[in-house]
Amino acid sequence: MNYFETEVKEIIKETSDSYSYVLSVPQGYEWKAGQHAMFKFKDYEVAEGDRAERVFTIASAPEDNFLMFTTRIGEQHTSFKEILLNSLKVGDKIMIATALGNFDFHMDGKDGAVVIAGGIGITPIRALLKHYSEKNKEAYKMTVIYSDDRGEFAYGNLWEDLKAKMPNLELHLVSEREKFTDLVNESARANMNSVEYLIAGSPGMNATFTETLKGIGIDAANIITDNFMGY
Ligand SMILES: Cc1cc2nc3c(=O)[nH]c(=O)nc-3n(C[C@H](O)[C@H](O)[C@H](O)COP(=O)(O)OP(=O)(O)OC[C@H]3O[C@@H](n4cnc5c(N)ncnc54)[C@H](O)[C@@H]3O)c2cc1C
Repeated sequence: MNYFETEVKEIIKETSDSYSYVLSVPQGYEWKAGQHAMFKFKDYEVAEGDRAERVFTIASAPEDNFLMFTTRIGEQHTSFKEILLNSLKVGDKIMIATALGNFDFHMDGKDGAVVIAGGIGITPIRALLKHYSEKNKEAYKMTVIYSDDRGEFAYGNLWEDLKAKMPNLELHLVSEREKFTDLVNESARANMNSVEYLIAGSPGMNATFTETLKGIGIDAANIITDNFMGY
């Protein structure tokens, strides 16, 4: 795997247990919004038995001009996350591999999209919305349903900035599980197969919503998932 060296520029506490790591863009490094990459430390070693590498979504768009990943670090966590939490600091180097993946809106022939994101699953959505806000298609309606059980939402003012730039963006920040499901159901019934459905979250959440949508009559071809294996 081809790795590039990047420098930690900023560490942001997004919620009570999630953190964003803002990184420099190495010379020649390219990525598309919605992609992910493998990361490993340069100057820290994980504990024996732990894996030295992790896949994280690149939560920034190329238009941000910085690389960034955001991760959840729960009370109990691996030695990899322990390094992120208590050792890695601004100025340290970290390695990022070539970006992979094709999680994206397709847009062609669609009136819009319903985006379903749970918790840390918001990371590729941040990148995609940031990217598309720079060349917004007002006719393409985006309904984003971002749920967090504790009502803790990442990225601060970004949502207000995006709404100001994108009149076609309807954003729901939801903290109740039932409301999350109700909104997904309502949006699907209102739009059926005229829109595409992007789902980003744990494999369990993605499977549940995929089944729900199919049950409502949404074609599998209109359902695009980004599976965060490991949660
Ligand atoms: C395409 C893709 C994109 C992804 N994007 C992201 C992303 O943007 N952000 C992100 O955070 N992850 C992302 N992931 C998942 C990521 O790769 C990791 O799998 C995930 O962050 C879990 O990390 P970890 O293995 O260090 O475990 P941890 O996060 O440390 O732990 C995972 C779970 O195991 C429990 N656990 C850990 N250690 C212990 C212990 N000693 N005792 C008891 N319980 C324990 C934790 O409480 C937690 O519930 C992505 C994965 C894929 C495949």
